[in-house]
Amino acid sequence: MEGLIMDYPLTTNTILEYGNNVYHHKKIITHLPDGTRHEYRFGDMYKRCKKLANALTRKLGITKGDMVGTFAWNHGPHVELYYGVSGMGAVCHTINIRLSSHQIEYIINNSEDKVIFVDATLVPLLEKIAPLLETVEYYILINAAEDFTTTLPNTLHYEDLLADQSEDFEWPTLNENDACGLCYTSGTTGFPKGVLYSHRSTFLHATTIISPNAGNFSNRDTVLLIVPQFHVMAWGFPYLCLLSGSNMVLPSSNLQPEAIIKILKEEKVNKANGVPTIWLGVYDAMKMNPPKEKLALEEYIVGGSALPKSLIEGFEKDFGIRGVHAWGMTETSPLGTVSRIQSKHERLSENEKLDIRAKQGTAFPGVELRIVTDDGTLAPTDGKTMGELQVKGAWTVSSYFKTNNHESFTEDGWFKTGDVSTIDEDGYMEIKDRAKDLIKSGGEWISSVALESALMAHPKIKEAAVIAISDEKWVEKPLASIVLVHNEDKILDEELIEFLSRDFVKYQIPKDYVYIKEVPKTSVGKFDKKEIRRLFSEGKLN
Ligand code: ADP
Repeated sequence: MEGLIMDYPLTTNTILEYGNNVYHHKKIITHLPDGTRHEYRFGDMYKRCKKLANALTRKLGITKGDMVGTFAWNHGPHVELYYGVSGMGAVCHTINIRLSSHQIEYIINNSEDKVIFVDATLVPLLEKIAPLLETVEYYILINAAEDFTTTLPNTLHYEDLLADQSEDFEWPTLNENDACGLCYTSGTTGFPKGVLYSHRSTFLHATTIISPNAGNFSNRDTVLLIVPQFHVMAWGFPYLCLLSGSNMVLPSSNLQPEAIIKILKEEKVNKANGVPTIWLGVYDAMKMNPPKEKLALEEYIVGGSALPKSLIEGFEKDFGIRGVHAWGMTETSPLGTVSRIQSKHERLSENEKLDIRAKQGTAFPGVELRIVTDDGTLAPTDGKTMGELQVKGAWTVSSYFKTNNHESFTEDGWFKTGDVSTIDEDGYMEIKDRAKDLIKSGGEWISSVALESALMAHPKIKEAAVIAISDEKWVEKPLASIVLVHNEDKILDEELIEFLSRDFVKYQIPKDYVYIKEVPKTSVGKFDKKEIRRLFSEGKLN
């Protein structure tokens, strides 16, 4: 028997309508790259979203299901795009500006973006590949000066696009399972894979994170959204701020520690998000130059890479600021777990509490986790038995966009994360290792396999194996171990860096090289990364 409850679609335009009805007075503040500050209200943003929806429909010919790309930092117009594009039934495709131009070209052609909204400061990155983009009809320039010049074809200024549009727009009736957002994740080999979010998954993800046991957001908060909006719908924050009535502070490209501290102070921010590298930088800068007055910042939510225990401890002891550890993936919208102390932990020592908080945490309601060991059995929840972390839930990917990656899913419908973890008796998950051959440096992926094949194309190199090693600033960085064709050959590090810069962006290129006689192999002849990591940790890799 079905319940007798209305079938009310959970869509992003219901989030926008709610934010406008209840919290129209709440602020959206942007700190622009030129140092200027822009402030407006949820109510103003709402009207501009409707103007945008009109412009998309009437001026740009966008219809339901079309892809609309964004190539931009965090700012008011980017939030308008999140709502305006999905509200009128199109899909907001956020493109990661930090990928190589090869990957960006692939992503835009694969998704078939019809229009791209691009920050003036990022235009040069697109100019290089524009002739190769097959489906883009218009480029809309955000924050461009009147006399801005570009070689991009068919450009319009964002403000001109909106200027003569009506503030009335009736949202179409959408199915909550319709797509609303698209984000690509980097692959180990081959090309990035798209994850297509639905209105329903976006709504449920955002509402769940607001809860006190999760992100703990309310209308008393002012939140700094440091995670770039081109990363996994910026962890759902642009949505949850409207639902919880939190003021939104957007830093655009002001991501240097000093710039972040300045914004935290000026806007009296009390909550924020970001990857560990950002918070390590902010902590170091605050240690060097302690703020005269205590910051309003109470809590920062960290994910993307492991939050070091020392950082949680340092921030708390020195500045009374709490680090909250979360875990997630593009494939999980992204937030899957969060680590918070429960009432039953209160009697534990500070050190024991710290151990719990440094774990990746417990699943959100709506997400399930399990660990599958190497022999295919389900691991007990003993906090010790390691295996592959698998996920399912209301905002977990069911299949990649336009590709059949069966190997990423189990027959009984779980998504394989590629993370090697444990789960304890209270459901706290801890990541121990990574099965996927990727390095995560400063929150961005580097494919070790791609680096290896590029290095092995060098005439003096016979074999190259790349592993992740830990780094204080970037959390991880790549180290390349190289076998030369002729032992007596010599290659300068600078020569290799120059060689790789043809195919890789700067942050992806290893700065550390070691020369070995032979790459250790597994029984089936694959590079044995575990063994290479062991040799490195024992100082035997040189
Ligand atoms: P995101 O853009 O949210 O970082 P990705 O899909 O690019 O998402 O990366 C997801 C992967 O990042 C996870 O599978 C895991 O390997 C790593 N990761 C994410 N959060 C954490 C964390 N808190 N601790 C350790 N690793 C993490």
